[in-house]
Amino acid sequence: METKPRILIIYTGGTIGMIKNPVTNALETVDFNLIFDRVPELNRLQIEIDNKSVKKPVDSSDMNISHWREIAKMVSDNYVEYDGFLILHGTDTMAYTASALSFMFEGLKKPIVLTGAQLPIGIIRTDGKNNLISALEVVAEKRANGEPMIQEVAVFFDDKLFRGNRSTKDSATHFEAFRSPNFEALAIAGVKIEYYENRFFSSANTPFITHRELNNRVALVKLFPGIKFELYKDVFNKDHVDGVVIETFGAGNTPSSEYLKKLILDFMAEGGVVLNITQCNSGTVKQGFYESSADFQEIGVISGGNMTTEAAMTKMMVFLDIEDLEKSKQVLAQEIRGEVDY
Ligand code: ASP
Repeated sequence: METKPRILIIYTGGTIGMIKNPVTNALETVDFNLIFDRVPELNRLQIEIDNKSVKKPVDSSDMNISHWREIAKMVSDNYVEYDGFLILHGTDTMAYTASALSFMFEGLKKPIVLTGAQLPIGIIRTDGKNNLISALEVVAEKRANGEPMIQEVAVFFDDKLFRGNRSTKDSATHFEAFRSPNFEALAIAGVKIEYYENRFFSSANTPFITHRELNNRVALVKLFPGIKFELYKDVFNKDHVDGVVIETFGAGNTPSSEYLKKLILDFMAEGGVVLNITQCNSGTVKQGFYESSADFQEIGVISGGNMTTEAAMTKMMVFLDIEDLEKSKQVLAQEIRGEVDY
């Protein structure tokens, strides 16, 4: 007899498990068991489900490095015992957590899928039930050779499965809340769940390890016409910051400012790292393509290709190690988990 897949659900908070406070009318995070009670269909799936909750479930606006460490530890402590992991998470920062986890795990050979909801599970029109049940089916799915179908960190939402580090929250109101602007869906759930195996990421056959040391001395600067770079002196300052992601215009272009160039040169001379991504919704940075990005290329700003902001920020947090700057820069300049094309 075929054994049922064993899946661990990790509850971290978010709208999916919230209820309305009758006094304030605001949505508040509640216990995971409420979700289980509201979805009795879970008992009918041919899946053995266990669940654990993080110490203190949160609205995902409160997610930070210590939550990512906690979630990663829960996965790695249970990695051998389970066939896959489903993480219930608020939608607001789900793409950041998915990106962070994708970089924190090396040699991953099992599915880690994040999902959540735009409407709490207790509300009749909730999207949470569909997301939860379909995501569980994705995590449980096997290939013909018996290996897990998905062997990477992914986000399931509405009817699509996206690579975690390619996903971004796109809508605050629609059930179709996520998008993967530069990489097509890994699977689409219609009458049947259609998998696109040629798009899957495959880790090298190295031991499964978790990077748990993250660097939060990182900053994000988004350019806009008329930007006053003098206000950013404290950002490009190695006393407080080790790395800056700059969201530039179009294909990686910046205003032609000698002040900015000097700010960056001085920051880099002190050991700071700068990564250039585009603020366009899709497409890629091509430093040197226009004169307005030639300076960046010349002074050694790293091109972030077509990485999302979520992927760029978390990749820096996971891999910017000031003790080994050269290696950090190498990793930041190349594709390591299917997160980027150049
Ligand atoms: N504020 C909520 C959160 O991200 C929104 C949601 O889950 O949809 O936790």
